[in-house]
Amino acid sequence: MERPLVVREPEVYLISRQVVVQEELERFLQREGFSWDYRDRQPWPPELIVESAGRLCYLSFGAGRSSLSEYVRNILESRHGSVLEHAVWGFIFTGVSRSLTHELVRHRAGMAYSQLSQRFVDEGRAKFVLPPALQGHPEEEQRWEREVAEDLANYVARVERMMAWPEFQAIKNRTERRKMVREAARANLPNATETMIFATGNARAWRNIIELRVSGHAEAEIRRLQYKVAQVLVREAPHIFGDYQFTPLPDGTYEAHTENVKV
Ligand SMILES: Cc1cc2nc3c(=O)[nH]c(=O)nc-3n(C[C@H](O)[C@H](O)[C@H](O)COP(=O)(O)OP(=O)(O)OC[C@H]3O[C@@H](n4cnc5c(N)ncnc54)[C@H](O)[C@@H]3O)c2cc1C
Repeated sequence: MERPLVVREPEVYLISRQVVVQEELERFLQREGFSWDYRDRQPWPPELIVESAGRLCYLSFGAGRSSLSEYVRNILESRHGSVLEHAVWGFIFTGVSRSLTHELVRHRAGMAYSQLSQRFVDEGRAKFVLPPALQGHPEEEQRWEREVAEDLANYVARVERMMAWPEFQAIKNRTERRKMVREAARANLPNATETMIFATGNARAWRNIIELRVSGHAEAEIRRLQYKVAQVLVREAPHIFGDYQFTPLPDGTYEAHTENVKV
């Protein structure tokens, strides 16, 4: 039996972030008679977006206003979380298991997902994500590799057998035929099967995910992934995500802490 392709680490790609349409912001400020010097906010467009949304509520644009960091801190402390929903980032995650994405997609509010289809895409060369707890236990890793190799072989064999069945041969549309066969055969694939997912979320939603998943109570694989996401978001928006402290856990992952829980 062929050795399976094993993934040991997830990969996080930041695919999308927002821009501010400065001419339009200027046009709004001028027409409404405000002079707001927001130029020092420029390195962080999503934070400028959040601040603009918040300031609109009280028409608090103008000279002598609080700095960006004071403003966002106040949003977090006063739990004015709805304005955080205006800032959005999109990621592609690869090297993650189907069990991880099953947990990820439970986060509904403010999130959008697009995941690799096991019905349309052939899994005959699928990779498998080694559970973090097995890493560093060579004997157990080898046993697990043999087990997933067997699962994959069963999947491939089932696809081949079913493709030859007369009722499937009778389906002229090849895509349709393959889809029907794969949707049955994928029942042989384990939770560890690698998948890819595009996940877009707003700042409030990502904060909820960080708090629930970069946690000692969360499953190790999603904790490892979301810690990586948190690191990216802290760089992207240091005022919105900079209140998290990350403390190491015995398994080499981290746990996030903040006083501003569930903003
Ligand atoms: C350690 C851990 C263990 C878990 N174990 C299990 C388990 O054993 N079984 C299981 O089924 N799930 C389990 N879950 C998943 C969990 O129950 C949630 O489904 C998941 O964490 C998403 O959280 P959420 O609802 O806050 O996120 P979101 O769906 O993104 O919601 C964000 C927030 O919006 C509000 N909200 C969203 N939808 C509604 C609504 N319909 N009505 C009112 N308010 C809403 C809530 O305030 C919510 O916290 C576990 C999660 C963790 C972190």
